[in-house]
Amino acid sequence: MRIKFWGVRGSTPAPQPENMRYGGNTSCVEVRLGDNLYIFDCGTGFRVLGQALRHEFNGRPVSAHIFVSHFHWDHIQGFPFFVPSYNDKNQIRILGYEGTGSGLREILNGQMATPFFPVALYDLPGKIKIEKLESMDFKIGKVHVRSKFMNHPGVCAGYRIFTSKGSIAFLPDHEPYEAFKLHSAKSHLLSPEQTQKRAREDRAELVKFLQGSDILILDTQYTDEEYQAHVGWGHGSLTTAISLALDAAVRKLILFHHDPTHDDEMLDKMVQTARKLAAKSESYLEVEGAREGAEMTLD
Ligand SMILES: [Zn+2]
Ligand SMILES: [Zn+2]
Repeated sequence: MRIKFWGVRGSTPAPQPENMRYGGNTSCVEVRLGDNLYIFDCGTGFRVLGQALRHEFNGRPVSAHIFVSHFHWDHIQGFPFFVPSYNDKNQIRILGYEGTGSGLREILNGQMATPFFPVALYDLPGKIKIEKLESMDFKIGKVHVRSKFMNHPGVCAGYRIFTSKGSIAFLPDHEPYEAFKLHSAKSHLLSPEQTQKRAREDRAELVKFLQGSDILILDTQYTDEEYQAHVGWGHGSLTTAISLALDAAVRKLILFHHDPTHDDEMLDKMVQTARKLAAKSESYLEVEGAREGAEMTLD
């Protein structure tokens, strides 16, 4: 099983020279299991993946399963630029959850509608199948998938895929429950004690969902200091990410959804800080920062 990162940035593309080592494209991760293609999110990195697939398949039909976490721009903006969608031999299956009042097709169609884009979704020659997921536990081809809704504005899913080689969890956008719940408690008429209890329960559910993951790709948009000024924005921080990965006995944590204002130097520092935090625990947790173009295998 091979995993390749095509887009690692959060919020918006950030293709400046000082970001080139980690990369400027937004959320897209490819998991290849034999000939089966599983793609997580179609941010602007999805365009680059499309080019690579055209080159690799060289006329042979492409068949891909695409899991969309949610429909914020940084997770769908590459979709109209995916070249395999422009070839009628190719089969593109898009899977995701609804719940924001609009259907999946309506949302994807919306970003391609006039005046935003010159080609309509229904004019794409590729065989594009858009499927609304209902279950949180299902099989797609050879993989078993479990999903869970994340703590993020709107409906946002995290996915975990189980294969004979191991499991990978993809949680691109998620804010830790504790500070968020306290921050929003006033609007829910709960006491601070009730709020903390609820946050502990939600976190315990997430730990259970992630338990024993070989690879966890997780939202770590902010440093701990930055997070204090962004509680309620829907994104994670370093210390909370490390503690989640440790509690869930994850083998390898990949820092993901990099803030567009964080350059390579800053991201190096964040990776170092996260590694120090993991080392303090005397665990075997490995930590890496997601880098565009990086590949890893799971055997
Ligand atoms: Zn995002
Ligand atoms: Zn988002």
